[in-house]
Amino acid sequence: MIRILISADMEGVSGLVNWDQTTPGHPEYERFRRIMTADVNAAIKGAIQAGAEDVVVSDGHNQANNILIEELDSRARLNQGYPSPLGMLQGVDGGVTAAMLVGYHARAGTASAMLDHTWASKVMNLWLNGKVVGEIGLNSAVCGNFNVPVIMVSGDQAAASEAVDLIPNVEVAAVKVARGRSAAECLPLETAHQKIREAAARAVSRLRIDAGIQPFRVEPPVMVNVEFHTSIMADRVSLIPGVDRLDGRRIQYMAENMLLAYKFFRSAVIVAGD
Ligand SMILES: [Zn+2]
Repeated sequence: MIRILISADMEGVSGLVNWDQTTPGHPEYERFRRIMTADVNAAIKGAIQAGAEDVVVSDGHNQANNILIEELDSRARLNQGYPSPLGMLQGVDGGVTAAMLVGYHARAGTASAMLDHTWASKVMNLWLNGKVVGEIGLNSAVCGNFNVPVIMVSGDQAAASEAVDLIPNVEVAAVKVARGRSAAECLPLETAHQKIREAAARAVSRLRIDAGIQPFRVEPPVMVNVEFHTSIMADRVSLIPGVDRLDGRRIQYMAENMLLAYKFFRSAVIVAGD
């Protein structure tokens, strides 16, 4: 039985080009949470068409309450609310076969990348065992901790190429081409959804014949390095037992495995403050 987890973020959804459109309370947000839901629906449809039998979706943006359940494909269940134990990947420990990352974005500091960041604007850089990663790398590594491969990623062209560089045989759907951090040439929604649906279907078909699908693994122990935006953020994170201060803005922490590395990073971002 093929069980799929869809982790959904918002910055990489079809047609979205600025923070207002991702921010609850802004009138534009209501448009884009509907489009986010439709992007997720396209992935659900493609996965099920190709033979997936169970789909769980985890809302992963902001407070994890963006997806409209009343518009979500009724064949899928929805994890929402914040904080949940596994956040953007809630459900990855529940025996899923593979994961899809929908509406994702490139890591902090990428050129021509829609709303590039790594978890929070206060994080300048994140390294796992010396390799710089963004949310695609971090979340794929957490999936790898549970032996779950990431088989499809949708977002802009920068998110798609970041995924391809990291994960062998991943299927991607680029729904927009960023021309800057907050400017992009966007596909019409119908075309974008067709691309997501087709990439999801190809990914599940590939999984069924086991064609070179491997989890993305970061071998334990996992050294986590974080460069924060300001030194006071690193001051605060340095109060966590086991954290080493490297310089003004950088800290280091050794975690026993990738799941603990993920939990440390999420806590450190909270402790860092504003
Ligand atoms: Zn987000």
